[in-house]
Amino acid sequence: GELPPFNNFPPADFTVKEERDGFPASMAKIRKDFGKRYPLYIGGQEIVTDDTLDSYNPADTSEIIGSVCQAGVAEVDKAVATAKQAYLDWRDVEPKERAQYLLKASQYLKDNMYDLCALQVLEVGKQWDQAQADVAEAIDFLEYYAREMIRLGAPRRMGNAPGEYSQYFYQGKGVAAVIAPWNFPLAISVGMVSAAIVSGCPVVYKPAGISSAVGYGIVEMFKAAGLPDGVFNYCPGRGSVMGDHLVDHPDVSVIAFTGSMEVGLRIQERAAKVHPGQEQCKKVIAEMGGKNGIIIDDDADLDEAVLGVLYAAFGFQGQKCSACSRAIVLGSIYDRFIHRLKEAAASIKLGPAEDPTNYMGPVVDKAAQKNVLEYCKIAEQEGSVVIKHEAPAEYRDKGCYAPLLVVDGITKDHRIAQEEVFGPVLSIMRAKDFDEALDIANSTRFALTGAVYSRSPKHLEKASREFRVGNLYLNKPSVGALVERHAFGGFKMSGVGSKAGGPDYLLQFMDPRLVCENT
Ligand code: GLU
Repeated sequence: GELPPFNNFPPADFTVKEERDGFPASMAKIRKDFGKRYPLYIGGQEIVTDDTLDSYNPADTSEIIGSVCQAGVAEVDKAVATAKQAYLDWRDVEPKERAQYLLKASQYLKDNMYDLCALQVLEVGKQWDQAQADVAEAIDFLEYYAREMIRLGAPRRMGNAPGEYSQYFYQGKGVAAVIAPWNFPLAISVGMVSAAIVSGCPVVYKPAGISSAVGYGIVEMFKAAGLPDGVFNYCPGRGSVMGDHLVDHPDVSVIAFTGSMEVGLRIQERAAKVHPGQEQCKKVIAEMGGKNGIIIDDDADLDEAVLGVLYAAFGFQGQKCSACSRAIVLGSIYDRFIHRLKEAAASIKLGPAEDPTNYMGPVVDKAAQKNVLEYCKIAEQEGSVVIKHEAPAEYRDKGCYAPLLVVDGITKDHRIAQEEVFGPVLSIMRAKDFDEALDIANSTRFALTGAVYSRSPKHLEKASREFRVGNLYLNKPSVGALVERHAFGGFKMSGVGSKAGGPDYLLQFMDPRLVCENT
């Protein structure tokens, strides 16, 4: 029958007892499984390697979530060869039928919601509500891309010339390498993977090392959906060992990547080179960094603005490419805004995400902690500290904590105004008027998200045109894009390719074909 129209999966509601109890029950269950070995999954077979990488709980680094087998060059070759073989059948499976696998996968996620959320809380330190939002977004991607493929898969007659029947349709490009980040460990992975698969491209999936246990959930998901062997291959590995090899492989036709600008640019450069035996020019879809600003106009509702900036800057410890790292505040309310923000930030509780009363938790691992602490030093040298709020010592001894840091007196030329930190560091920048605020907002090499808090219709209108980012939010935070309603992605050094969860996304994985018959 007809599919109901797409709708976003609802957010968590912890007033409901079942939802409130679901998390602790699932966390207890997952703890019993701690330390388990995660194999590779290639062509429907589990493959064990000698090299393994432990994934640990960032709130308590002595807790090992699991030990993840690591692909080397030989395993990548096997995965790509398997996907290449699967492509020969998969590309000709009816779009409608391919879509059915996504809908079944979505059902699996719904049925296992709490376990999937709880694993994120423990593996990457995500707050409960945000872990739920991540799984919900994964469901949304599956539901949306299934419908999108059905829409695009309908045969399309071109023109109406008599004596001629001209048809336009799409074919998957070939093997897709999906290189995923850890910060939306299920959603972004499922988004890129499912888009490729439903478009007719079998996938070699490399999850981030830090979130490979969450990534393994996709193996279970597609097993439950009955996806044919070889169409999805789980291939975690060390970037330094197998990253370039996967990108360079002549039988990879599409690379879908989300991560840092540095890695994204490296992928684009390497993918441009054609290797012996390569059939397709590689298509790269890269979602990269941000240095997102929120403008606080002089007539802004400060209650809303303060909460919005806090959430956008410190939700999930600022580890989102959409996070607010610059608050650009009009001179006439500068002091009032800082005062209010400082008070609100001081009231935030820091500690493990496992306890839902903690607003901010640890950053994702020891390397992230080191990086953020270095940027804290830079921020403190370049500006003056408004607030530096540390987690209690008992937590800091065990986990990868970084302080919540707000500095002011930052201008466009400061490093902290230009470089992506990917952590809980917020710069406050003063603007003399709204035009200067827009100028500051646009003054980085990135163009991902932005927001404006203002009551002036004229200023909101002006920002819509002149605050030049991929996703602009008016009187709401710069984070938390929903599939379809807030199709997500930027330009400049924030990425290449069209918006995830938007109407052009699947087209990037396919080549259009035209057949014209003389009738
Ligand atoms: N889509 C996410 C948001 O709107 C950000 C994605 C990312 O950090 O890569 O908050």
